[in-house]
Amino acid sequence: MKLLLVIVLSISFLAAIAGAQSDYKILHEKSLVVDMHADVLLQVLRGADISKRLEYGHVDLIRLKEGGVDVQFFAVWPNPTLYGKGGMFNQSIRMIDLLDKIIENNLDKINLTRTPAEIEQTVKNGKIAACIGIEGGTAIENDLNKLKELYDRGARYLGLTWNDSPDWASCAKDETSPEYKGHRGLTEFGREVIHWMNDKGMIIDVSHSGEKTFWDVMEESKKPIIASHSCVYNLCAHYRNLSDDQIKAIGKNRGVIFINFYPGYLVNGFNRKYYALRKSSQAYMDSMKQVYGNDRLGYRKYRNNYLVERTKDFRPDIGRIVDHMDYIISLIGDDHIGLGSDFDGISIVPRGIDNASKMPEITRVMLERGYSTERIEKILGGNFMRVFREVSAL
Ligand SMILES: [Zn+2]
Repeated sequence: MKLLLVIVLSISFLAAIAGAQSDYKILHEKSLVVDMHADVLLQVLRGADISKRLEYGHVDLIRLKEGGVDVQFFAVWPNPTLYGKGGMFNQSIRMIDLLDKIIENNLDKINLTRTPAEIEQTVKNGKIAACIGIEGGTAIENDLNKLKELYDRGARYLGLTWNDSPDWASCAKDETSPEYKGHRGLTEFGREVIHWMNDKGMIIDVSHSGEKTFWDVMEESKKPIIASHSCVYNLCAHYRNLSDDQIKAIGKNRGVIFINFYPGYLVNGFNRKYYALRKSSQAYMDSMKQVYGNDRLGYRKYRNNYLVERTKDFRPDIGRIVDHMDYIISLIGDDHIGLGSDFDGISIVPRGIDNASKMPEITRVMLERGYSTERIEKILGGNFMRVFREVSAL
């Protein structure tokens, strides 16, 4: 009798586990899943064909589908080290051209979307909704006509700064650097940019912006804003992260903070160890670069695997991403959180979320933390749709 009871209990226990496992997958699959920031166009620039499954990096069309990602914002990043080679605006246009080509060649899988309605229709048709976000105000070269051109090509958010300050807004890196002598916050033209974006229905992104710029934006913007890929300063003291006051202000503004997956923004101390590792392996890496010669992709893959392997003891677990959500919820509730992976812009990710195909794992961890279905759906995509509707309504 006792044995029978044990067997019955074991079976029901196993069934419960199996149920929980499929529950998270079902919930993830039926939810609208949005990733607000990935740099995969950098892989495309280096020659990757993302319509096929890549054995490296984080994002391609196959792995997005496997990970149930319905809406992918492709970051368009004007690279300052290439400045002079055609300029920041032309570089941005070239990246949009690349995305257009990918879409043109894969219309059965992905469509460019510019409105909440286009996103809904595309997802309903079982395709990935591709959106464009610009990462760096330098792209507009102090010219609202250029901002309009980027908008007309489909860009729906503009990160006011990257780690370099345009003439009209200071970035977090500069604002926290003792050597920086430039202006702080928004200039008069910077304020015009904010008004233009409000009027046009384009989303303002404050990830990478300095605090002074942030507070000027809060004063100026009549619409909700986002931080497309940022975390909590109080959990990880990095200048890229948001202070409690900034988080509370975003709550009041009805904005959304999309959590970045980079370990260096999730836990204190990661960057110190990671930079030390990179420094100590530099000579070895230089020699490996010689070995790989013209096979630059082969070298990149080798280097990346090497760093991933050697950071496994101090990389945080996927649960750390949800720790940052917990913290924001404790301050301002669950209407202001989303996902902004920074995939392919970062070389190292937390354990358990190796690439875009592993996105359902986030849903699993949220369920384990006791998040309600309603809360999970908001975080995965509902909060983004609310903000996009509110900002784009004219
Ligand atoms: Zn970034």
